[in-house]
Amino acid sequence: MNEYFKNVIYKLCISLVLLISLSSYNTSYALSVEDKVDILIQNQETQKNLNEKIKELDNILESKNKELDNVKDYIDNEGNEKIEVITISFVPKEEEYDESEKITSEIITLEQNKSVLEEELQDNIIEGVKLEKSIEEEVSMQLKEEGSEFIEGIWPLNDYKDISSGFGYRIHPITQVKSFHKGIDIPAPQDTDVLATDSGVVIFSGYQNGYGNVVKIKHFDGKITVYAHNNSNVVSKGDIVKQGQVISKVGTTGNSTGNHVHFEIIVNDENINPIKGIIR
Ligand SMILES: [Zn+2]
Repeated sequence: MNEYFKNVIYKLCISLVLLISLSSYNTSYALSVEDKVDILIQNQETQKNLNEKIKELDNILESKNKELDNVKDYIDNEGNEKIEVITISFVPKEEEYDESEKITSEIITLEQNKSVLEEELQDNIIEGVKLEKSIEEEVSMQLKEEGSEFIEGIWPLNDYKDISSGFGYRIHPITQVKSFHKGIDIPAPQDTDVLATDSGVVIFSGYQNGYGNVVKIKHFDGKITVYAHNNSNVVSKGDIVKQGQVISKVGTTGNSTGNHVHFEIIVNDENINPIKGIIR
């Protein structure tokens, strides 16, 4: 069977499965927020795979186009030589013409396959956005029922529960100037796992002055959490993370005097005392 039609049938099957699963959780609310986050992570994985496949096809297409150019050049040059040199017995190079036709049809098939994948990717992106919205809506509904502003998360380190510097005004350990400490400092050995306090989307992962290596997560309840001074970050911007997932390793990068996590919680653009937002 033609590769193009195989792809179309494959895509139809995927759409059908997706449609059935979507309609079932839209009507029955059978899936928990946690389940939806799992589907969202799968959706992101599918997007990454599709992007890779499209990239691969692009590479193949590029080399096929070069191949075609070479064959065409060859045909042109051969023709010229024949006209110039062997004027008596001109033999058309059938093989080269066949080759050129063969490559052209391969290119057409590859381009068809690519557009099928691109459409699939587009559908996936739309599905992801819808799913994210439905998670946010469900979380907000739950919070309303409970009468709370945000979800209480887990402690960002497994075995280290001491706080070396609390939230609020303090004499800064480096500058010796009285300043507002926007989070809490939790000391732990270098490279201890730092955990996402709650599920969400990574909105920043990189180096920032003062913070050093820092990860910022936007959660489905709207709050943002910050994990600073990491030795290294293990997630990237855009990643969907689950509660308890390792996002970075403890370090002392940026303005820091020892290995620790500087942890912040931001609710409605305002830093709150993180102690009030996590279970110790
Ligand atoms: Zn701090």
